[in-house]
Amino acid sequence: MASVDSHSESARATTSGDHPPAVDVASRGGSAANGTPSVTAEAIGEAVLNQPQKKRGVPEGLWLKCPGCNASVYRKEVISRLNVCPKCDYHFYVSAIERVAQVLDDGTFEPMNEHLRPTDPLGFSDRRPYAQRLVAEQKRTGLTDAVLTGTGMIRARRVAFAVTDSAFIMGSMGSVVGERLARLVEHATTQNLALIIISGSGGGARMHEGILSLMQMAKVSAALARYHAAGGLFISVLTNPTMGGVAASFASLGDLVFAEPKALIGFAGPRTIKATIGIELPEGFQTSEFLLEHGYIDRIVARQHLKSEIARAIDYCGK
Ligand SMILES: [Zn+2]
Repeated sequence: MASVDSHSESARATTSGDHPPAVDVASRGGSAANGTPSVTAEAIGEAVLNQPQKKRGVPEGLWLKCPGCNASVYRKEVISRLNVCPKCDYHFYVSAIERVAQVLDDGTFEPMNEHLRPTDPLGFSDRRPYAQRLVAEQKRTGLTDAVLTGTGMIRARRVAFAVTDSAFIMGSMGSVVGERLARLVEHATTQNLALIIISGSGGGARMHEGILSLMQMAKVSAALARYHAAGGLFISVLTNPTMGGVAASFASLGDLVFAEPKALIGFAGPRTIKATIGIELPEGFQTSEFLLEHGYIDRIVARQHLKSEIARAIDYCGK
């Protein structure tokens, strides 16, 4: 089946120059290649938060109200704690670009396959045409699609790294997200690298690309099976939210599955499930804590400790 061939979508996913130029992630996140000093996570966080179209993450203003504890907290303090509330440890949204700066060593991220760009194979339209939506999302988020992939260092350990961004069409997986991930996994396999994928994908498989999106689930999973057979170490990190076809494919296939505290993780949403089975759902259903208790995830890791915990796991597994 074509979907298992990791390069089957590449021709479809790559377009000519009718999209905005690729965002130079290397220069935004700092690049090892040219020795430029890296921008700090804090500075990137500030820059992302200051984008005028920004609707997620830490709201504007000197003080802000935390959705977790309703307290008024000093915005700068939240940003300095990697967008975590100082009072209740509520984890605010962070963009993929910020996440690179938080988890990878400064200036080490080298993006891969940024030339793969989404197209509109179905001529799909809901409230607005998909082609227009893509251009708008690219402009708004500074990303070319919902995932960043590449290589970098985590406390001086070289890794293959990916992060999805829930701000880009809910972090959903279309052809480009699937193809970039499959190629990253194949790169990790041939280069014998530990693989870290951080998921912030509330949208699951991207409906705007129909069955082509569903095929990505099989394609990435097949690549991960080959990676697994070759003895690779895959650490999957689930953040709020990780749902649908993303949760049902690569995000659940980690040798180790970490999750941020209180993240929403599941397949269908709680309302859908409740309406389908007609019973009350247990308290805390689909949260990290509930899923840890039920064996779906291995460990809850607060954002401040994520980098060192990943490094520790890599060492522990001898990778
Ligand atoms: Zn709070």
